[in-house]
Amino acid sequence: MTIEFETPKPVEQARFLLQTVADNMMRPISREMDENEHEIPFSYIEFMHSAMKAMGGSSAGSLSTSEDKKADEPGKPKRPSIAYQVLANQLEVLSWGDVGMYLSTPGGGLGAAAVQAAGSSEQKEKFLARFNGEKPTFAAMCMTEPQAGSDTSAIRTRAVLDEATREWIITGEKIFVTAGEKSFNDHPELGNGFIVVWASIDPGAGRAGMRSFVIEAGTPGVKVTKLEHKMGIRVSDTASISLDGVRVPFENILGSPTVEKSTTGFKGAMATFDATRPLVAATGVGVARAALEELKSMLAQQGVTIRYGLPRQKLTAIERDVIDMEIMVKSAWLMVLKAVWMADNKQPNALESSMSKVRSGDIVNRVTQKAVEILGPLGYSREYLIEKWFRDAKITDIYEGTGQINRLVVARHMLNYSGSELR
Ligand SMILES: Cc1cc2nc3c(=O)[nH]c(=O)nc-3n(C[C@H](O)[C@H](O)[C@H](O)COP(=O)(O)OP(=O)(O)OC[C@H]3O[C@@H](n4cnc5c(N)ncnc54)[C@H](O)[C@@H]3O)c2cc1C
Repeated sequence: MTIEFETPKPVEQARFLLQTVADNMMRPISREMDENEHEIPFSYIEFMHSAMKAMGGSSAGSLSTSEDKKADEPGKPKRPSIAYQVLANQLEVLSWGDVGMYLSTPGGGLGAAAVQAAGSSEQKEKFLARFNGEKPTFAAMCMTEPQAGSDTSAIRTRAVLDEATREWIITGEKIFVTAGEKSFNDHPELGNGFIVVWASIDPGAGRAGMRSFVIEAGTPGVKVTKLEHKMGIRVSDTASISLDGVRVPFENILGSPTVEKSTTGFKGAMATFDATRPLVAATGVGVARAALEELKSMLAQQGVTIRYGLPRQKLTAIERDVIDMEIMVKSAWLMVLKAVWMADNKQPNALESSMSKVRSGDIVNRVTQKAVEILGPLGYSREYLIEKWFRDAKITDIYEGTGQINRLVVARHMLNYSGSELR
């Protein structure tokens, strides 16, 4: 199969529609949301919920277009899926608008991605249908614990099967859960969401004993104990969640309830990341592009335009910087496109997925920092959004595998080492 660089029509449509949202709904309240951390942007959430329903949002509650879904309609010629390509484009545009607000877009997020990656067809039907309901609904994924971040095998949350009631009893402590509050706590404006909690059903089995469980909002024993105060993406809630003897129906386990010698449980997490890391990379590209475009516009207001086409030695230092930034943004975007194309074509993409995230994490930090630097006091002032994007950029390099961890994944694949051989 060959990669096509022509933008498919549904992708163009999606970008066009969401650019309007980014321009008119996100940018005007971006600063206000940044300054009022933990305020939920209900107007944006409600608008996006209605818009996604009108566009035929997928059952996972992810953004998508009805046109893309037609690819699988019976009787019509089968086209390769472009679902991830559409998503990457949508996320890039929304993150150009405001990446924190994009993270507050209703839908399944990482929680639904985990159900998609490791759930049975019954579980997908049961847990994902709610995102098409009357009210905007959220889901979150809880992997990280105080002693287990990059090293996910160190999780201590435990799930024990109560044979008498056939329920799982889950106890543990989860931290840094994106959208944890909106997914679990009761808000009259929002529908009944869920959290997906990673726990061990057999600590002696290491990663092979890790499983994820769907825990419905409002389940007794679960408590949102803290909301983080953060440097960037301040509109996105990041919660700590305690689980104290939480009883979960037997059928809410994602994957096999028995432990085999393989690492099937952990593979569910990795499959989720292979699908979602290029999407996180797309959000980084969106933020970088926002900073680059704003920089060029502010420079133009000061009479500085970029003289493309001149030999490099004739350019000013600023012109060279801006052109280098454009190369960074474009190259990162091409890596995202490759990784999502592979996901859409069902090709193993762990290497490309991590590569795209490493590249995007790097360039969004460099581009936003350079924009602040070139603009001087204007870049540092809260009057403009450049300083905010500089703060928003860093997260691209932290969640869903830090830059260092994704570099390790890349090295393992390139050198053909296992996780235990290279860590
Ligand atoms: C805003 C925000 C939202 C988040 N959302 C979620 C979420 O929804 N769900 C969830 O489960 N988690 C979430 N996280 C957690 C995130 O995934 C972790 O912070 C991340 O995996 C890193 O783990 P850690 O913070 O414990 O850092 P550590 O693992 O302690 O790492 C600290 C530093 O050491 C480096 N390092 C660690 N191991 C190695 C190694 N082997 N080689 C080289 N360098 C290494 C890391 O790269 C990092 O720079 C979120 C975090 C933030 C900040």
